[in-house]
Formats: sequence, C-alpha cells, structure tokens
Amino acid sequence: LSITKEDILKKAEELDVKFVRLQFVDILGTIKNVAITVDQLPTALDDGIMFDGSSIEGFTRIQESDMYLKPDYDTFTIFPWRPKEGAVARLMCDILTPDGEPFAGCPRSTLKKVMAEAKEMGFEMYAGSEPEFFLFDKDEKGEPTTITNDKGGYFDLSPVDMGENARRDIVLALEEMGFDVEASHHEVAPGQHEIDFKYAPVLRTADNIATFKFVTKAVAMEHNLHATFMPKPIFGENGSGMHVHQSLFKDGENAFYDPDDELGLSEVAYHYMGGILKHAPALAAITNPVINSYKRLVPGYEAPVYISWSGQNRSALIRVPSARGVGTRIELRNPDPAANPYLAMAVMLKAGLDGIKNKIEPGEQTIDNIYAMGESERQARAIDSLPSDILEAVNNLAEDQILRDTLGEHIFEHFVEAKMIEWDVYRTQVHDWELDQYLYL
Ligand code: GLU
Ligand code: MG
Ligand code: MG
Repeated sequence: LSITKEDILKKAEELDVKFVRLQFVDILGTIKNVAITVDQLPTALDDGIMFDGSSIEGFTRIQESDMYLKPDYDTFTIFPWRPKEGAVARLMCDILTPDGEPFAGCPRSTLKKVMAEAKEMGFEMYAGSEPEFFLFDKDEKGEPTTITNDKGGYFDLSPVDMGENARRDIVLALEEMGFDVEASHHEVAPGQHEIDFKYAPVLRTADNIATFKFVTKAVAMEHNLHATFMPKPIFGENGSGMHVHQSLFKDGENAFYDPDDELGLSEVAYHYMGGILKHAPALAAITNPVINSYKRLVPGYEAPVYISWSGQNRSALIRVPSARGVGTRIELRNPDPAANPYLAMAVMLKAGLDGIKNKIEPGEQTIDNIYAMGESERQARAIDSLPSDILEAVNNLAEDQILRDTLGEHIFEHFVEAKMIEWDVYRTQVHDWELDQYLYL
C-alpha cells in the first residue's frame, strides 16, 4: 500500500516536523538538499518545488535552469539524530523539467527508465547491497585522518572494536528510518565496517544506499569519527566494496531459480550473468567511478580482478550465493561505495537485460582460485581482467553503445567530462611514491 499525501501530512504533524529536506543526487552521486518549511509541504507534495538547477554540478546550462523536485511519497522519513521537537524530515525526489518530463540529468529517473524496460519484459529487479566503510579518527583541528584506534578484525567484538558504538548508533538510526538492517559487523581491516540491509525492489535499494551514506557520516560525526566510503584508503589493507546481490522476479516468482538445473539456476539467470560479464569492462566506469576505485581491484584483498563467475569462489567477479528458491541471486563483487547507486543499478540491470534478450552465455564457471593462476593459464581459459584504471574504464564505456544509451547523452557527456578532468589532475601530480622511488636518481 502506497503512502498518500494525507498520511504524510498527518505524520509530519504527529512528529512535530518543522523542516523538510527535498533530496536528490547529482550525476556523481552526491546527495543534495533543498530545505522547505513544513508549511510548504502540501504544495511540494502536489506540484513539486521549483529550484535553480544551474548551480548543481553537471546539471543544466544557465538558460534552462528551472527544474522541479517531485517527491516520492514512499521515501518520507525523519532524521532521528536531529532534535525531536521541530524535527527534520526528508523526501527523495525525481528531477523534472518545467514541462513535467523527467530531466535527462536525473540519475533516479534514469534508473526508472531501465526498470520500465525490465517491466515490459515481465521482470522486476530486486537488489541488496553490502556497503563497507572506514571509521577514522579526526585530528585536533577536526580534520579527518586515516588513523584508527580500533584494532578489531573480522567479526571482532568490543573492547577492541572502537567503532562499535558508532556502528550501533548508525544501525539504530537506520532502523528508525525504516531500514531493515540484516547484519552489521566489523570487516577485515582495522577501522573497517559493513552494514547490510535487506534486499528490496531496486529503486528502494538505490534510495537506501544514498540515505545510508549520509546517515553514516552524520552519526559518525556525533562520535567525533569520520566515515569514509573511499574505496581504498590504506595501502596494504582491504578496501571497501559494495557487493550488489541481484535477482529478477516474474509474476511474483524468482526468475533466477530452476530446480531442474544442475546448479538450480534458470536460463534467465545464466543470460543475466552473461550480460553482466560482457559489459563488465564498461560497467566498471559507473560501479567503480573514481581513480582510487582501481587501487582496490588488485589481487590479494578479497576484491575481484578477473571477469569470471563462480558458484563458490570469492575471487570471481560474480559469485552465486548458495540460497535457492526465492533467495536465488547473483552477487556482483566489483561495485564500490563511491558509485552513484542509481546509475550503478541502472547499468547493471541493463547489462543483465541485454544478456537475456540476446541469450548471452556466461561460459564455464571458474572453480579454481584465479589469483593463484599465472597469466598464461588465465589466457588459456580466456579470463579477462577488469580495467586497471578509470581511464581504461571510461574508454570502454565510450565504446559500449548499450550502456551509453542507458545513461543518455546528457549524463554520459557530463560524466566523462568530469572523469577526464579528474584523470588529468591526477596524472600530472607528483606522488609521494615517486619521490621515494626516484629522488636519488
Ligand atoms: N572488502 C572486500 C572488497 O573489497 C570484500 C570482503 C567481503 O567479502 O566482504 O571487496
Ligand atoms: Mg564484506
Ligand atoms: Mg558479499
């Protein structure tokens, strides 16, 4: 049952809401807010609120700056860490043009477009994500460091785990906001944590990821810690991934499940994987969108490097968790939490649908540990690698017409432009490693 305007107004009154933040994300996945007072809420719910899009990175030219924020009623929730009197609520929004059309630069609308295409084929995508992050100490000036006083390891409990209190409060805040948190634990690296929330229809999961990131940062701040979703903050330690579990449902049944298949997987599941594997070199530009993303995708840190799938082994890009029946799904392991969740879901779904439409086979699964294979063995088995940097990934994206069309020219062009600037600044820096290496020359 969907929430109505009346439900929201009633809730806002009960909870003594004074401000409502209308939220949306830009092309790079940064969450933005326009705050309104509760008096404007009825108008916002009916007609949306006009805002000046020209001030937002990569959005519009000055002459087409008027945009509308159209709230999604289902996303109404309060910020539990804010005062209870005069509470702050939020609504996640689509961005519309003054004519009421989805704006070409709106990532949420982009995802909805691919969902509609899936629906035409009879499918609904469900996704669950496992975002990892680090909690770091701040220095005397309040600036974030990469220092952690926490010496915990995988699934460790306090007193070693200093981030435990912060993580507990993050989980409590998320639950108060309506999240169904399935698990949360300390990850392998010092200061590293993971919070998993229950799978949901893909749009909800994308909203959840966007929300999760700012809630985590806000609550960490209350503990005087800095939360970072940077994919690889510390050399020599595991980086932070954001595995995405995905499945398609048709007529209320899991379309990835087939009890008669040897592995219990349907044609749809195999072809979906085939599509993801085929588009993986280009997908990476969106699922691993920053220069630092590629420092994580190296052998030895539980992150994928090679393009392959497996029923068991975690060195593969796609793992098929053992659950069957309604829980049948694939886990894509390369995405990281720097990704724009809406665009990442959009291109993953599109790649999978392409696989289904064109019956793309995923090939044999790889049972052996790929990290342990030599270059020639990988070549013999035709196991390719993920791109080694963002430049390669963006070049692959430019060559992948299907994913380009999914993003649309507007998002594609702004994204590539931003990435090329980032790359150029990076490649012309002189890094500490170079000084250590070459200063004696
Ligand atoms: N932190 C690892 C990564 O970078 C993943 C560890 C895990 O399997 O949860 O992907
Ligand atoms: Mg993990
Ligand atoms: Mg996982």
